[in-house]
Amino acid sequence: MKTNIKDIRKIIAGKQVYIWGAMIVGQGVCRAFERCGISINAFIDSSESLQGRKALGYPILSAQKTINENPFDEQVIIISSGHYDLEIEQICIEAGLMKGIHYVMSYDLNDVDPSIDISGICNLKCISCPRGNMDEHSSVGFMSSEEYKSVLDKLLRELPFLGSIQLYTWGEPLLNRELPEIIRITRDAKVLTALSSNLNVKRGYKEVVEAKLDWFKISASGFDESYEVTHTGGNWEVFLDNLYGLANLRERYHPDMQVVLNYHLYKHNIGDDYHRMEELCEKLDFIFRPSPAYLYPLDNVRDYIDGRPLSEEAEKTLELLLMGLDEGIEKALKRKKNRCPEERCLPIMWDRKVRFCGVYYKPYICEDFLTAPVDEILKNRITSKFCQQCIERGLHQFTGVYLAEKILS
Ligand code: SF4
Repeated sequence: MKTNIKDIRKIIAGKQVYIWGAMIVGQGVCRAFERCGISINAFIDSSESLQGRKALGYPILSAQKTINENPFDEQVIIISSGHYDLEIEQICIEAGLMKGIHYVMSYDLNDVDPSIDISGICNLKCISCPRGNMDEHSSVGFMSSEEYKSVLDKLLRELPFLGSIQLYTWGEPLLNRELPEIIRITRDAKVLTALSSNLNVKRGYKEVVEAKLDWFKISASGFDESYEVTHTGGNWEVFLDNLYGLANLRERYHPDMQVVLNYHLYKHNIGDDYHRMEELCEKLDFIFRPSPAYLYPLDNVRDYIDGRPLSEEAEKTLELLLMGLDEGIEKALKRKKNRCPEERCLPIMWDRKVRFCGVYYKPYICEDFLTAPVDEILKNRITSKFCQQCIERGLHQFTGVYLAEKILS
């Protein structure tokens, strides 16, 4: 059941407020609270590597210690971890905490995570991405900062607890020259900003860091010679130069900016290259996040199941996957009863069209975001034949199967 601002004010009145989850979801909740005039005391987290650090200026404390040492009736915990919310709720229940009194689930405050693809173009043609493995692409262009503001204003009107905006889906956001202004608009509205870049654009980093982006994600899949195999069209020297440049800019202009390097694991990059990238991230104080690569988008996986031919690039991706496509599809089917994690997703394109969700490339659920209420878009999606067929085949669980896989010890 949804919790509104009035409810949350009543629940937390006179109590210490802790947000459990110091990463992007938790920080988004913190920004939404600040916007509504609600103060928190601290973040709490189970990860020892985060404890003792700060997030958005608040301390990050040990979750276990906070639960065990504070009297229940003097604190409220907002569970905001994303993937691990249900496990954390179980810990709270076992400790004797009660929902709606001692803890609140952040997805009851806001269950939509919008992304706005401000750039309808990418400079690379990675073979596991639709930019590199599909022939048909929609129109090319950039969202202006003015238009972005209209989209953000509508989101804020309809989602009072909106926490964060991801400024990308399938495009390279650094290509949009209005990106610094877009970041400033989002920060002024007290909404967390995140983007993902391939770091192959040669300009624009200083302006982005100075505009005070909150989360800078980097995508990579190899080190030195292996880098360009699956970051197809990329250049290792440019990437490396920008990696060091970003670390310097952060130190100089915005030390609080979080930098995460998402390392996509394939057969060709799990040996020494993996360790070299891990060491480099440690040296630059970037968060290193390895995860097994899979074939994107699900349009390709659906074609494969239906016996339609895949492009040469998609076939090449299949040869490099650590977990084969057949195994991924089979495991996903076994999890078909699980809830679709993409239900939270609302991918708005540069031309204001809304894609079905974050894992498909072609279908759209709405032609113009500004003309349709969010609730209506979500309702149309959940009741659609397209979603039903996707769930029937377990495809809504496909990416989760790979992310759950512990391929490296
Ligand atoms: S059911 Fe499939 S198409 Fe529908 S939101 Fe989930 S992943 Fe997307």
